[in-house]
Amino acid sequence: MQHCVTPVGIMRSCFKEKFAIPRQPHLAPAARGVLELLPPFNTGEAVAGLEQVSHVWLLFLFHQALEDTPRLKVRPPRLGGNKRVGVFATRATHRPNGIGQSVVRLDAVEPGRLLLSGIDLLDGTPVLDIKPYVPYADSVPSAVNPMASAAPAAIEVDWSEQALQQAHDHGKRLSEPLVALIEQCLAQDPRPAYQVPPAERVYGVKFWDVQVRWQYPTPERIRVTEVSPDA
Ligand code: SAM
Repeated sequence: MQHCVTPVGIMRSCFKEKFAIPRQPHLAPAARGVLELLPPFNTGEAVAGLEQVSHVWLLFLFHQALEDTPRLKVRPPRLGGNKRVGVFATRATHRPNGIGQSVVRLDAVEPGRLLLSGIDLLDGTPVLDIKPYVPYADSVPSAVNPMASAAPAAIEVDWSEQALQQAHDHGKRLSEPLVALIEQCLAQDPRPAYQVPPAERVYGVKFWDVQVRWQYPTPERIRVTEVSPDA
C-alpha cells in the first residue's frame, strides 16, 4: 500500500549544507529559519491560533538522504560511528520513508510563513506537517534513553581577532546572531566521530551566505579563522 504526501511548506534555513547542522533542535538556539507555506496553506487560515503557541513539531522529509533500499541497521554518530543498531532505535537520517521530526521555537506567525529558531533542518527541506507542541503530552520527565541520555558534550570554540570581527560585521548585515550561531554549532564538534584532525587541516561550512572556516589546534578545541562571503 502506498500513500502520497505533499509538502505544506519549504524551510528557508541558515544551514546551507548538511555538515555542521546540530544533531537535534535546540542545541543551537541561534539557528533560525523561515518556513514558507505553500498554497493553499499560505493564506493565514491554516495557522490561525498558532500564534499562541511557543513551540511546534515539524514533520519533514530528509530530502538529501533519501535511499531506494531501506537500511535495517545504522551506525549513529552518537555511538562513535562504529556500532550498528536497529534503525528504529535511532534518529538517523537514513530511514524508511525519510521522515524527520523536530520541536522548534515558534518566534512569529506572519502571513504565509512561520519564523522559527533552534532548528536542525537543512535549507530547502520539504515540511510535511506542523503541529503545536503540547507540554503535558509531549514532555515525559520519566523517559529513559541511555543511548542519548543528555545533549552531546560541547567543545571549546575560540576566534582569531579577524574572524570575530568578520562574524560581527556579517551578522549585522544579515540581522542574524551569527557569532552565536557559529559558536553554538561548532561547539557540537561537527567532525566525524572517528576523525583525529591534523592541526593544519582547515574545515569549512556555509551558514547563511558566508563561509566559516576553522581548525583544531588540539582535538578538544576549535579556532574559527575566517568568516567570508561565499564565493
Ligand atoms: N530532529 C530530527 C529527527 O530526530 O528526526 C533530525 C535528527 S537528524 C540526526 C539531524 C541531522 O539531519 C542534521 O545534523 C542534518 O545534517 C540532517 N538533515 C537536516 N535536514 C536534512 C535534510 N533535509 N536532508 C538530509 N539530512 C538533513
